[in-house]
Amino acid sequence: MSITVVGSIAYDTVKTPFGERERMLGGAAVHFALAASFFDEVHVVGPVGEDFGEPQLEVMRSRGIDVSDIERVAGGKTFFWQGEYGWDLNSRETLDTQLGVFEGFQPKLSPSSLASDVLFLANIQPDLQRDVRAQLPQARFVALDSMDLWINIARDSLVAAIEGVDCVILNDAELRQLTGKPNLVAAAREILSWGQGGSDGGGRGPSVIVAKQGEYGAALVTRDGFFALPAYPLESVIDPTGAGDTFAGGLIGYIAAHPEEELSDELLRRAMAHATVLASFNVEEFGTERVERLTGNEIVSRIKELQAMTQFSGAPLSLRG
Ligand code: AMP
Repeated sequence: MSITVVGSIAYDTVKTPFGERERMLGGAAVHFALAASFFDEVHVVGPVGEDFGEPQLEVMRSRGIDVSDIERVAGGKTFFWQGEYGWDLNSRETLDTQLGVFEGFQPKLSPSSLASDVLFLANIQPDLQRDVRAQLPQARFVALDSMDLWINIARDSLVAAIEGVDCVILNDAELRQLTGKPNLVAAAREILSWGQGGSDGGGRGPSVIVAKQGEYGAALVTRDGFFALPAYPLESVIDPTGAGDTFAGGLIGYIAAHPEEELSDELLRRAMAHATVLASFNVEEFGTERVERLTGNEIVSRIKELQAMTQFSGAPLSLRG
C-alpha cells in the first residue's frame, strides 16, 4: 500500500558549530518522505511557492516519492525556516519562520493520496491536520507530530487532532507541556486516555506514544508496555535539523511495510530501531544531504550494530540481601 504525508516543504537556513547552509531543501514532510521512501510508496501533500526549484523536486522523485500533490502556488513563496544550534545540539533557536504559501493553504488530495492506508500528519497547524485526517477516514494507521507553538496557541484543536490519530510523536518537553505532567510516562499515559469516546477519529484514540529525546534516544509507551532505545552513538553530529521527521519516517515507514502484521509492541520495537537508525544518518550532514545518498544496505548494517549494542543477557546472580 502507501503512505501519505502532509506537512511543510521548506527552504531552511541553518547554522551549527560545524558550518552553515542557506536555503537548503528542508521541511518536515520532505525529511519524513525521504526516510519513509525506503519502506513504501510515499505521497507528499503540501504547498510550495514559485521559488521552489526543479532540482529540489528531483531529490524526492529520485527516491520514488510521488510529488504530484505538491501544489505550486502562483506568486507565492515557499515556507522558510531559519535556526541556529549551539554546542548543545539538543536545543536550537528559531531565528525566522515565514509561512509563505502555508497561509491560507487548503489541502487538496488526489485519489492516490486518498487511497493510502497509512497517514502522517507532520507538524503543521492542527486544524489542517484534522482536515486531512478527515479526508482519509479508512486509514489503518495515522500518526501526528506537533510543536510547542501549537500547544501554546491552538491547544484545543491539537487535542482534538490527537483524539483522531493512533500514534503521537512528540519530544519529551512537548509531552510535558501538553499534559502539564512532569513525568514522561505519566504524560504519555494521560494522552493514551484521550479520545476513546468519539470525536474526529471514530473513537479509537491514540494507542502509541513516542517521546523523542534527541541525542538520548526515544521512548515508546503503549497500553501494554514501555520500550526505549538510545540514539545510535555517533562521533560526529553536524546538523540535527529534521532528525525528528526522519525518525518518524523510519517508524511509520516500517509500520506501513508490514500491513499484514498486527500492531504489537514487538512490531513497534522493530519500528523504533529503524526510526533510530534513519535519524542517525540524517544528523551526520546538513539537511537532507546524507539521507539523499543513503542505501538500504547501510540501514541494514546499522540496524545490526544497534541491535548488538542494546542487548544484554539475563545471567542470574544470587544477590545478597
Ligand atoms: P525537526 O528538526 O525534526 O523538528 O524538523 C525541522 C524541520 O521542520 C525543518 O526542515 C523546518 O523546515 C520545519 N519546520 C520548522 N518550523 C516549522 C513550523 N512552524 N511548521 C512546520 N514546519 C516547520
